[in-house]
Amino acid sequence: MTTIGVLAVQGDVREHRAMLEQVGTDTVDVRYVDELDGIDGLVIPGGESTAIINLLKRQELVEPLRAQIAEGLPVYGSCAGMILLSDKVEGREDQELLGGMDIAVKRNAFGRQVASFEAPVYCQTIGDEPFHGIFIRAPWAEVIGDGVKVLGTVTDHEGQTRAVALRQGSLFVTAFHPELTDDTRMHEYFVREIVQS
Ligand code: GLN
Repeated sequence: MTTIGVLAVQGDVREHRAMLEQVGTDTVDVRYVDELDGIDGLVIPGGESTAIINLLKRQELVEPLRAQIAEGLPVYGSCAGMILLSDKVEGREDQELLGGMDIAVKRNAFGRQVASFEAPVYCQTIGDEPFHGIFIRAPWAEVIGDGVKVLGTVTDHEGQTRAVALRQGSLFVTAFHPELTDDTRMHEYFVREIVQS
């Protein structure tokens, strides 16, 4: 049986667990370092990336998580989770992150005035049918390293194509919140193609 941990310091923990269970995995909350033992993959829900890193520090989870990422633990980060898994934040080089994915993200990239919006995400890897993207003060990937695959894109308010679903090795990120839809394809992709492959 595959067991996926959901980092339970902020965000839609319950919704992510429900989706993961729908695609046939066991799930556990991860709040303490010993809860990383025995998981096959980890989901980092959205929230506020600066608050999450502070909570992770308090739980003494930052170094253990970096070590697990370096060892190849499959991790899926959504929204703030995407920010935490990236190597850099554009214009905020001092922001502390977990890192691991060779991208620089722009936070609140779609503009603060449009705090949230919904738009189709085109993602051939999961099928022809676009994914209903729910974006909440979402980032996009501004600089993308050679080893990173762009899996999904959205059109921003100026008509530009933006990278909002990406993969590098065992790391997978989306700028949007699939756990707020009833479409399990993103979780299924993570579980089948990264955790179980
Ligand atoms: N704007 C948040 C951040 O910068 C991310 C928002 C989200 O996770 N929904 O951390």
